[in-house]
Amino acid sequence: MIAGTTKLLGVIGWPVEHSFSPAMHNAILQHTGIDCVYVPLPVEPGDLPKAIDGIKSMGFLGANVTIPHKEEVMQYLDEIHPDAQKVNAVNTIVVKDKKLIGYNTDIGGFRAALSRHHFTPKDKNVVIFGAGGAAKAIVYALAVAGCKSITVGARSQEKAEKFIEPFKQMVDIKAYNWEEQDFRKAHWDVDLLINTTPVGMDGIKDKSLPTFWTDVPLSAFAADIIYNPPITAFLRQARLRGCRGMNGLAMLVEQGALSFELWFDKEPPREIMYEFLVQKLE
Ligand code: NAP
Repeated sequence: MIAGTTKLLGVIGWPVEHSFSPAMHNAILQHTGIDCVYVPLPVEPGDLPKAIDGIKSMGFLGANVTIPHKEEVMQYLDEIHPDAQKVNAVNTIVVKDKKLIGYNTDIGGFRAALSRHHFTPKDKNVVIFGAGGAAKAIVYALAVAGCKSITVGARSQEKAEKFIEPFKQMVDIKAYNWEEQDFRKAHWDVDLLINTTPVGMDGIKDKSLPTFWTDVPLSAFAADIIYNPPITAFLRQARLRGCRGMNGLAMLVEQGALSFELWFDKEPPREIMYEFLVQKLE
């Protein structure tokens, strides 16, 4: 029950109606008996500085940050974790002693999701579709985990090349327009394929990625970070090829679990989070 003592958390985004975070976090706050609620915070582009002031002045414990504010928010924070700095995006704010500290839990969230599906990225060849915000967190996670090579394909060669620039010192990484023959060649010895584009979500469900499935080894693992719908065309094609795979649900849960740990310094009930979201998405 909400009382005078109830603490506040929320997700800042525009739009936020589609976000699963309020439902997921309130489910575990209730389960753990923590006196706190998690609310949607729809913040229009342009209003972000005022919203961040509000987080501080209204005594929030912290917040999640989602599209389109993950980059812009960094300039309004007092401290930023080096990992978030590296990928130039913050998705979690912790308020500590009136200071706002920014983190990026998509990085650890993706790594934990792979681990939950028993995939170890060390020394593996990776092919990634898309060169946006989530891809940055994923490439950084994979580079830190010691993968052997990363090939990024996007619909714009220019964007893909700019995208890989900050990672060149960390890992063997190449960028292509995904229609190119050299991008196709990367499929020959791929261990992990990842869709980081929204292709496969409602609205662009029928569009398909230029994945050369007939070239992909059967032992490869396919990860789509879309969780709704749970089975995208990308995952369906992976299955038809005989490859194992995962959708974006584990990343969603694990990034939320890491945010919870940052706010409360305790382990969240992960299994409750998984159960809750699986039911919600059925
Ligand atoms: P973003 O920064 O906008 O990047 C999207 C990427 O996909 C860009 O490379 C973009 O290319 C490409 N793209 C967009 N529409 C496309 C289309 N119709 N055809 C081909 N390529 C297209 O978005 P993001 O934050 O990285 O998020 C991407 C997806 O990941 C979303 O579906 C989001 O819901 C999901 N996500 C899931 C989790 C999770 O926890 N499971 C976490 C974060 C994000 P251009 O630059 O050329 O537009």
